[in-house]
Amino acid sequence: MRIGPAELAAMLEAIARRISAEREALNRLDAALGDGDHGTSVSAAFSAAVDDIAALNQPSASDIWLAAAKAVMNRMGGASGAIFGSFFLKGLPAVRGHDSLSKSDMEAVLKAGLQGVKARGKTEVGDKTMVDALAPAVADFAKAGDYAEGWRGTAAAARIGADSTRTLTARRGRARYLGERAIGHIDPGAATVATIFEAIDAWWEELIRSN
Ligand code: ADP
Ligand code: MG
Repeated sequence: MRIGPAELAAMLEAIARRISAEREALNRLDAALGDGDHGTSVSAAFSAAVDDIAALNQPSASDIWLAAAKAVMNRMGGASGAIFGSFFLKGLPAVRGHDSLSKSDMEAVLKAGLQGVKARGKTEVGDKTMVDALAPAVADFAKAGDYAEGWRGTAAAARIGADSTRTLTARRGRARYLGERAIGHIDPGAATVATIFEAIDAWWEELIRSN
């Protein structure tokens, strides 16, 4: 199975739906560690991405990816807008030139996106950011043999990574001002990454079942 423009658009819709359902829960996580806006901004960005993609005329996979990048950059705001935006922007060259993405094409997209996030945020695993969910998810995807195994792995690894932020103090983002008081709270950006991969995994299972 490959992911073409129609599937990519459907995948982003599935993400937007799930993030919208989790908006308040993500805001509550950010209220504990930051300013409480994370769910609202991430949900607005993915909804805008879906609308912008729907307005495209026969888009290629990279048209869709670029629209998502722009929506995230322009609509997410805050630290996470620039950082999530780097995920999409740095992944873009790996999407370009493909009519559809094989599992190994997608692996290249995810790896480039992760590098973009780490470079933009100057962040490594253990800093209590979205990287704590994204890095293990991408590593798990790379190990998998196919999409089904890959998405299953990313969802599980990202959730474990997000949960692992609970015991950490933060070295990046607003939460670093809290020092030890950040301990006991899950990082909202990491929870968003876990939610995204869970949405993709559920969408993929449904796609397989209906084919
Ligand atoms: P803001 O902090 O500007 O209000 P958000 O609330 O939308 O932005 O996003 C906060 C999330 O952004 C954090 O939970 C964290 O995962 C992520 N984040 C913040 N700074 C960095 C960074 N330097 N590198 C990676 N991720 C970061
Ligand atoms: Mg915030």
